[in-house]
Amino acid sequence: MSKSKDQRIKKLKKNRIWPSVLGLIFIIFLFSLISTAALAVSGVDIVQKKLSNSSSSSVKIAELFADYNPETEENVENTVLSYIDVLEEIEAVCVVDSEKNPVWSSNEEYPVIDESLEMEYLSQTDDRDISVLIPEGEDQVFTIKDGGIVTNKDAVEDIFNSEDYDPSAPFTRLKLWMIVPINDMEVMVLNDVPIYLQDFTMMITCIVLCALLIGAFTLHHLISIITMVYDVRKTTKIIYTDMVTGGDNRLFFMRKGTSLLKKNRKGKRNYAIVHLEMRKYRTFCTCFGVDKGQELIEKYYNVLKKELIRSEIVAHQENAQFGLLMVYTDTAELEARILRLENALNAVLPKMKAYFCAGVYLVQPGEYDVEQLYNNAMIACEVLGEEAENRIAYFDVEMNNRKLWERKVEDDMDRALANREFQVYLQPKISTTGEALGGAEALVRWIHPTEGFIAPNRFIPIFEKNGFILKLDDYMLEEIAKVQAAWLAEGRGLVPISVNISRAHFTREDLAEHICSIVDRYQVPHSVIELELTESAFFDDKKVLINTVQRLREAGFPVSMDDFGAGYSSLNSLKELQIDVLKIDANFFRGADSRERGMLIVSEVIDLAKKLNMKIVAEGIESEDQVAFLTQQECDLIQGYFYAKPMPVAEFAQKYSA
Ligand code: C2E
Ligand code: CA
Ligand code: CA
Repeated sequence: MSKSKDQRIKKLKKNRIWPSVLGLIFIIFLFSLISTAALAVSGVDIVQKKLSNSSSSSVKIAELFADYNPETEENVENTVLSYIDVLEEIEAVCVVDSEKNPVWSSNEEYPVIDESLEMEYLSQTDDRDISVLIPEGEDQVFTIKDGGIVTNKDAVEDIFNSEDYDPSAPFTRLKLWMIVPINDMEVMVLNDVPIYLQDFTMMITCIVLCALLIGAFTLHHLISIITMVYDVRKTTKIIYTDMVTGGDNRLFFMRKGTSLLKKNRKGKRNYAIVHLEMRKYRTFCTCFGVDKGQELIEKYYNVLKKELIRSEIVAHQENAQFGLLMVYTDTAELEARILRLENALNAVLPKMKAYFCAGVYLVQPGEYDVEQLYNNAMIACEVLGEEAENRIAYFDVEMNNRKLWERKVEDDMDRALANREFQVYLQPKISTTGEALGGAEALVRWIHPTEGFIAPNRFIPIFEKNGFILKLDDYMLEEIAKVQAAWLAEGRGLVPISVNISRAHFTREDLAEHICSIVDRYQVPHSVIELELTESAFFDDKKVLINTVQRLREAGFPVSMDDFGAGYSSLNSLKELQIDVLKIDANFFRGADSRERGMLIVSEVIDLAKKLNMKIVAEGIESEDQVAFLTQQECDLIQGYFYAKPMPVAEFAQKYSA
């Protein structure tokens, strides 16, 4: 498939989901950031408040020890113990001297304090520096980090998410030591601060609002992602759907086919690309209408789809043409399957016999470009021609070369005509009585700038197909008129020169006038320009043909029937067409086995022509005994290599001075 086509398809299907997905990821990231920040900020704030309460209580307790003497001051200890009883948050108190030796403790055991953690967090209360020590651990809601208290988000979420979480109970407790220096002692107060969900109301409201907002954005993005996925699917479906059958189209065939062939890189399966075409589909549409024609195509498509196995594909191409990628074991089996497909298609309209032709390209390992390969299958089918009995044709390299040549000829023909690359060659027609020049035939030669000399059978059939033959024949006619005019001016004796008029001309009703207008530009007597038409023209519009021939003869042009006997209806055409000259086809003189019969026919045809008042020219005469035979049969003129091959006009003028 061509690159630009590929790019156009990609553009159509352009996947714009990524911006939405990225947007979604960004929103989720933003949410986490905001909620973490909110948690951190309000968490620290709450802790600060709680800590300042705790430090006030701790300082109050510590101040009781200001003038403390362990021997005498029993009431201080009792006061402290009652504080511990009353204040929910105070768990324990102990006092150490400057060497960290215990002085007093509310509990029996002294706390073991990790020196390295001490002084991690400092709080200022009543101008006192109070060290706060928080036990470490992953499940701690608050931990000390970089000299500050940090809320551990994961731990908070664990608490909220746990099954036995009770919102009215404190969801966590902040356990910490407040170490208050007093005189040369340190009073250590173990705080166990409860923290309630209500403390976080602001933060939760903020997070909920944020979550709602972000939820709306997320929803919007999700919807747009889903819509986009749906749209891309829809576009893909449209791109690959055939409007006539509702099934897969040509583009799908090319893409899917290429991917199937690529998967089969090692050549495990034999693949064949088949171009299957119903003949005379346009005629069907003319008779029954285009709608009925399209209905038929849809039915055909469904039949083909049903008949194929997995890893085979079919797509409607144009008109009544289908492309198939088929798996086969050998060509006999493949042909049998194609015929079965044709039978199945024929069953769609039991009362009407449809004819199909199939062009087959056998894919070689390493060939993937289905568009190119399918083109080969189409070329194979084209070669079958309209009436061919053989309904399956395989592509071969020769076909491809033929097509390439056809393209070249078509590309170059206009330039060639303008540059006068087409040259007139003349082949003499010699009279059997006295071997004098009795006429000549103008035959075209193409002197191509790069290809050199090109014989007419390599381009005339192509021009007949594409219509360029009309221009070429006009050109040849004009050239011959010019030649005759020049020779007339020189005072040479003139013989009729025949010009080939292709059957394609006989579609125009004013052909006779057209020919006159060309010849009359050079004021040449019409009698020296003979017009050769092949009897195959008789199969086209008979009326136009008969009428044109009659008018041409009335205008004074001799008309000859070329290749007489090469077609099927020679005698019939003789009956209806009045012509002056009969050119007997060279084939009567070829072939050793049938030569005698050929001669017999030639002698009878000459006889018949004489009775019909026609002149006889035998062409393709190569040997002396053929000349002898024709002379004996009183054939009028002989044209053939025996006398001369076609030659350039100048050479002809030099050799034959009539
Ligand atoms: P054609 O009109 O039947 O021309 C006779 C062909 O037989 C010529 O082939 C000629 O060279 C060839 N020929 C003559 N004598 C012999 C012989 O003894 N042995 C053999 N083997 N061949 C002989 P050429 O020139 O190659 O032309 C082939 C065909 O191309 C012509 O067949 C004619 O149908 C067509 N053609 C040539 N020039 C023109 C043209 O200007 N217009 C049209 N429409 N067709 C042309
Ligand atoms: Ca001819
Ligand atoms: Ca001929």
